[in-house]
Amino acid sequence: MTKRDYKADTLLGHLGRDPKAFHGAVNPPVYHASTILFDSLDAYEDRHRYLEKGKVVYGLLGTPTTFALEEAVARLEGGSGCIAVSSGLAAITGPILALVESGDHILVSDSVYQPTRRFCDHMLRRLGVETTYYDPLIGAGIAALMRQNTRLVFLESPGSLTFEVQDAPAIAAVAKAAGAAVLMDTTWPASLLCRPFELGADISIQAGTKYIVGHSDAMLGLITTNEAFEQKVRLALQELGQCAAPDDVYLALRGLRTLSVRLARHQETGLALARWLAERPEVERVLHPALPGDPGHDLWRRDFSGASGLFGVVLRAPCSRAAVAALIEGMELFGLGSSWGGFESLMIAAYPERIRSATTWDAPGRTLRIHAGLEHPADLIADLEAGFERFNRAVRENA
Ligand SMILES: *Cc1c(COP(=O)(O)O)cnc(C)c1O
Repeated sequence: MTKRDYKADTLLGHLGRDPKAFHGAVNPPVYHASTILFDSLDAYEDRHRYLEKGKVVYGLLGTPTTFALEEAVARLEGGSGCIAVSSGLAAITGPILALVESGDHILVSDSVYQPTRRFCDHMLRRLGVETTYYDPLIGAGIAALMRQNTRLVFLESPGSLTFEVQDAPAIAAVAKAAGAAVLMDTTWPASLLCRPFELGADISIQAGTKYIVGHSDAMLGLITTNEAFEQKVRLALQELGQCAAPDDVYLALRGLRTLSVRLARHQETGLALARWLAERPEVERVLHPALPGDPGHDLWRRDFSGASGLFGVVLRAPCSRAAVAALIEGMELFGLGSSWGGFESLMIAAYPERIRSATTWDAPGRTLRIHAGLEHPADLIADLEAGFERFNRAVRENA
C-alpha cells in the first residue's frame, strides 16, 4: 500500500494484500506452518536476531497470513503493530501480564467484560497484583484512585452489558501523567468507529471473534500497540506461547473486507430496534449511546464516528423470570447465546447488578442485551412484538 491517506472503507479492501507475491492471487494464501527450514547453520542459529516484524522463523511467531492481518489492523487502528492471538480474552490477559509484577496495582472499569474481571480477581490476585474497579463515569476523577504502584488503567467503552461511555481522553491523561499504561478494550468500535490511540490508548484490544470475523465461526484476539509498548507486549505474548490459527486468521482477513458495510447495517438496524424499544410500555430505558438523551451520548458523539449493533434494554418491573424466559425463549430470529458481532441477531438476559463492585446497578426490571444482526429490521421488530405479547401474558398469569 502507498502512504496515501485513504478512507477506512478503501483501506479495508486493500490492506494486507500483496498479489504480486502470490502469483497474482487477490488474497494471501493460508500458510499452515510450524517448522520453517533454513539454508545454513548460521542462519538457523541467528534466527532470533530475525524476530523483527515480517520475518518467518517459526509458526508460533507468524506467517505471511498472520502478518497480513496484523498489518491491516495496525494500520486501521493507527497503532504501530498488532499481534493476533487465539481469542479476545487472550488478547486481554496477555498484555496485562506483560506489564504487571507482584506488588503492582491496576485500575479496571466496573463495566468491564466479566471474564476480564475474573482474570483480575483470580489469577492476578494470586500473583500479588491488586485490582481496584472504578466507576466508568469517573473521568478525570480517576486521579483520586491512582497510587504510586498503579501500573495500568483498563478501559472498556461503551461498557459490557450497560454501555456507559467513558471520558477516555480524561482518564488517559491522568494515567499517563502518573506513568501508568492505558489499555482499552475496543471490541464494540471494531477498529472503525473510534481512533483508540487518539483517545489516549497505549494498547487497543479487540475480540476479533466479534465484528472482524463477523460470522460466528472463529475465535480471534487482536492486540494493537503504540511503538513504546510493542516490543514488550510482543515478547510477553511469545513467552506465553500465544498465536492464532491460520484458518481463523484467514477468516478474519475475509471478514475485514466487508467490515464497514456490515457495521453500517448493524448500526442502522440496532438504532431502529432501539428507537422502537424506547417507545414500548414494557421498557424502562434503552442503553444505547447513539440515542439522543442517553447519558453517554455527548461523549459518544465526541469520540466515536458510529455505533455497532450491540446495545441494552432495561425492562420495567414487574418482570418475573418466567416472563423474561417467555420473551427470550420464544424468539424466532434472535438466538440465545454468548458472543455477538455475527450476521445473526441475539438476545440474552444480563445481570450487571451481580457483577458490579464499585457502583450499583439499580434497574427496576431485568436488563437484556441485544445484538442487531443483518436481518431485515421489520422482521426483527415483528419478532420483538410477539415476544412482548408472550411477556405480558406471562406477567398476567403470574400476577
Ligand atoms: C467477547 C468479548 C471479549 C472476549 O472475546 P473472545 O474472543 O470471546 O475471548 C472481550 N471483550 C469484549 C468486550 C467482548 O465482548
